[in-house]
Amino acid sequence: MEIKKMFIDGEWTEGTSGKTIAVVNPANGETFAQVCESSLMDTQKAILAAKRSFYETREWRDMDSQQRGDMLLKIADLIEEKAEEFAKLDALDNGKPLREAEGDVDDGIHTFRYYAGLIKAPYGGVYDVNGNFGTMHSYTVHEPVGVCAQITPWNYPFLMAVWKLAPALAAGNSIVFKPSSETMLSTIKLFEVFEEAGLPKGCVNLVMGPGATVGNLMAKSKDVDMVTFTGSTEAGQSIMRAAAENVKKIGLELGGKSPNVIFADADLEGAVEWAMIGIFFNQGEVCSAGSRIIIEESVKEKFVARLAERANAMTLGNPLDNPDMGPLVSEKHMNRVLKYIEIGKEEGAALVCGGFRYTEGECATGYYVRPTIFDNCTADMRIVQEEIFGPVVAIQTFQTEEEAVKLANDTIYGLAGAVFTSDGARAIRVIKEIRAGITWINCYNPTYNEAPWGGYKMSGIGRELGIHGLEEYQEVKQINMNLTPGIVGWYEH
Ligand code: NAD
Repeated sequence: MEIKKMFIDGEWTEGTSGKTIAVVNPANGETFAQVCESSLMDTQKAILAAKRSFYETREWRDMDSQQRGDMLLKIADLIEEKAEEFAKLDALDNGKPLREAEGDVDDGIHTFRYYAGLIKAPYGGVYDVNGNFGTMHSYTVHEPVGVCAQITPWNYPFLMAVWKLAPALAAGNSIVFKPSSETMLSTIKLFEVFEEAGLPKGCVNLVMGPGATVGNLMAKSKDVDMVTFTGSTEAGQSIMRAAAENVKKIGLELGGKSPNVIFADADLEGAVEWAMIGIFFNQGEVCSAGSRIIIEESVKEKFVARLAERANAMTLGNPLDNPDMGPLVSEKHMNRVLKYIEIGKEEGAALVCGGFRYTEGECATGYYVRPTIFDNCTADMRIVQEEIFGPVVAIQTFQTEEEAVKLANDTIYGLAGAVFTSDGARAIRVIKEIRAGITWINCYNPTYNEAPWGGYKMSGIGRELGIHGLEEYQEVKQINMNLTPGIVGWYEH
C-alpha cells in the first residue's frame, strides 16, 4: 500500500515520527492508503520553512501581483486537468456522492481563478488632507500578514483547503497547512499540483496529524502570524486560546444549527425539495445545514408527510455510483450521529422516518445512516440545540412571524438560515432578523466564490471568500506623505 508523505520546505518527506495514519473508505470500512503522521518536530520545521520563505527568501511575497495571479491561474488549470482524480479522491475518502465531489472541484478551480483576478485588480484609497501639519497625501496599501497556519475539517476536504489556500497565496503569505486526519488525500494531491506549478520553496508546507498536538502547535507558535480554522466550535475555542500566546490574527469558521423557516404561503413542494438539499446534501455533514425546520403550524402535517415520503425514497450506496447519499465519514462519526438519534427519542421527539444504520446489500460494512426526521421538537431539546452534523432534521412549529424569528435565533450558533414565503416583504423582514452570516430566500445552500462566507455568534469570526476573504489574509497600512516638507512651526506659538 502506498504511503503518502508530508511536504516541508519544498520536499516530500516521511517526517520523524515513524507513524502512519490509515485512510479508511467509509463505504466499506477498508483501509486503502496510509499517510505519514507529522511529529511536533516536523510541524516546527514546516513553520520555520514558512517563516524563512516569508521573511528571508521572500520570493513569493515579493513576486509582483501579476505573476502571482498567473501562478494561481496555472494551479487552476492543473486542477482542471486532474479534476476527475480530485473528485474521486474526495468521494472515496469522505463518502460524498461523486457528483457532489465534482461540484466541489469545479468550485475550487473557480476560487483560484477568482483570486487570481482579484489580486490583479486595483485597490486602496487615497485621500489628500490639509491641516496644521501641512498638506498630506495619504493612502492605504494591503500587505500579506506573514506566516499563516491553516487547519481544515473533513466534510469538504478539497474545497475547504482551497477556500483558505487560494486567498492566502494570492495575498503573498507563506503557509503551513493541516487537513483533518480523516480526509488527507485530495489535499496531498493539491500540494502535488503546487509543486508542479512551481510555487517557490517553503511558501506552502503540508503537515498531517492530530489537532491536539500538530494543530495546537500551529495555533500557539510565536513564529506564526495568523491562524485560520474551519471546524467545530469547541476546537475553535481552543485555537482562539492558543492564538492568544502572541496575539496572532485569527479566522474561525465554526459549527452551526441553522434554521429553515417555512411559511404557509410558500411553494410547499419547492420548500420540500430545498429542505432536502438543506439537510441531506453531503449526508448532512455541512456546517450550514438546515438542521432545524421551523414551519407554520397550519401546513406542518402536509409538509412533514411529503418530506418523509421523499426522504424514504432516497437511495444510499457507493459514492462512486452517485446515490442520493453516501456513507458518513467514519465509524466514530456514524456512532455519534446514531447516539443523537437515541437522545432525540429519549427527549420525546417523534421519529417520523429513518433513525437507523443502513446495512442492506453493498452498504453492509459501510457507515450509512438513513435520512432521519424528528417531529414535535421543542426548543429545549438537545437535538434542536446541538450540532449533529448528519442527515437528521428537527421539526418545530410556529403561529406568528415573531415566534418564527424567535425560534430561528434561539441557539448559540449563527452561521446560516433561510426563509420560504411568497410574500416578498415578509421574506426580507425575516431574513434581516435572522442573526446569521449566510442566508437564503426560497432556496437553501447555494453559495458562490464572490460572496462572503462566515458566521455570527459562536459560528465564527471573520469571513472567507469574496473580497472579504482576501482582506482577511492582508494587513492594511496607512501611509501619510508630507507634500510640504520643512518646518511646521508647531513650537513657535
Ligand atoms: P474538528 O473541530 O474536530 O476538526 C477540524 C480540524 O481541526 C481538524 O484538522 C482537526 O485535526 C483540527 N483540530 C481539532 N482540535 C484541534 C485543536 N485543539 N487545535 C488545533 N486543531 C485542532 O471538526 P471536524 O469534525 O473535522 O469537522 C466538523 C465541524 O466543522 C463541524 O462543527 C462543522 O460545522 C464545522 N465546519 C464549519 C464550516 C464553516 O464554514 N463554518 C465548514 C465546514 C465544517
